[in-house]
Amino acid sequence: MSNLAKNYNRKKISFKYGKGAYLFSTNKKKYLDFVQGIAVNSLGHAHPKLVSTIRNQSQKLWHVSNAFQIPEGEKLAQKLCKKTFADYVIFQNSGAEATEASVKVARRYFYSIGKPNKNRILCIKNSFHGRTLAAIFASGSKKMTEGFGPKIAGFDHFKFGDHESLKNKINKNTAAIMIETIMGEGGIKVIPDWCLRELRKLCDKKKILLILDEVQCGVARSGDFFAFEKSKVKPDIVPIAKGIGGGFPIGAVLMNKKVATGIIPGSHGSTFGGNPLAMSVGNTVMDIVSNKKFLKNVKNLSRYFFLNLNKIKHKYPNIIKDIRGKGLLIGIQLYKDPNIFIKKLMDKRLLTIRAAENIIRILPPLNVKKKEIDISIKIISKVCENFK
Ligand SMILES: *Cc1c(COP(=O)(O)O)cnc(C)c1O
Repeated sequence: MSNLAKNYNRKKISFKYGKGAYLFSTNKKKYLDFVQGIAVNSLGHAHPKLVSTIRNQSQKLWHVSNAFQIPEGEKLAQKLCKKTFADYVIFQNSGAEATEASVKVARRYFYSIGKPNKNRILCIKNSFHGRTLAAIFASGSKKMTEGFGPKIAGFDHFKFGDHESLKNKINKNTAAIMIETIMGEGGIKVIPDWCLRELRKLCDKKKILLILDEVQCGVARSGDFFAFEKSKVKPDIVPIAKGIGGGFPIGAVLMNKKVATGIIPGSHGSTFGGNPLAMSVGNTVMDIVSNKKFLKNVKNLSRYFFLNLNKIKHKYPNIIKDIRGKGLLIGIQLYKDPNIFIKKLMDKRLLTIRAAENIIRILPPLNVKKKEIDISIKIISKVCENFK
């Protein structure tokens, strides 16, 4: 009997260690890990540079408190701002903290300019922004909010792709629109660049803020540092988390100068957020994944992966409905519930994870080898071949 509460539906498998794209189970089997902690381990398991960063920093200093200067955090914030639209950063420990802090930054901005009633956040119905109270009511999902009332006020919703409803839901109290640039849990749904540009225009016209949640799709996962980059759109606020720590818990809110004016001493804080150990790891991840060559390689690997997955789709049009996503955030949509398929992949030593809309999510490390992609393609083909 387990003393862990039953909030997860865990697979009956555990692991002893990992190396790059591979995991080794306690019963001595080798798995190709294309979950990578749900897009968290950007550089795979036990990357030598991350191991040495942790080893070095852990001998010097772990935690001091934000009552003091933290040079490692200064450095990471500077790198993030140099690479992106942002002027300022607040560090957190997780994605939900980062999305909630984003809502706080948006509200605080309007408060600071004398418009405290502009405080409502418009989100996509059944999106995913994390599991804290505010974040579940931001998602508006029935499943996630059930039993957790009273409802946290201040969130409005529109249906994915319903532009009329989006426009109609904006009112004088709307502070911001918050969406995932690529909906991860919701089924790897990419918001097209033209949509992002129209969204920016709409926000400018209505004088509201644009928050793009890049907790899952950001930090090189899409093949660009941010998934919105190619659209040339500049959001006001961007929460990140998953990939930036390479497996170490880090969250962050990136923001422009305008909205940062609302943030004054005492307005927000976190005990653990931005500690020297986390920041050292973040710096090492950032140095590797923000490199142009690295990003180019992610794009090349992505092209190769999509090409081969589409070949499988053409061969098995009755099993696979769609291949979607961007970079190495990939979804295989089946006609049927994907659980059996995922189990069969696992039996053949390939780990994947589901998302909404019958999607099998494929999240390899960003430094995955072509040869490892080939192995996964073979396994996926094989499972299709015997799938009814
Ligand atoms: C995972 C995720 C979150 C929540 O992150 P946690 O670290 O689990 O709190 C928020 N937004 C998006 C888009 C995510 O994918």
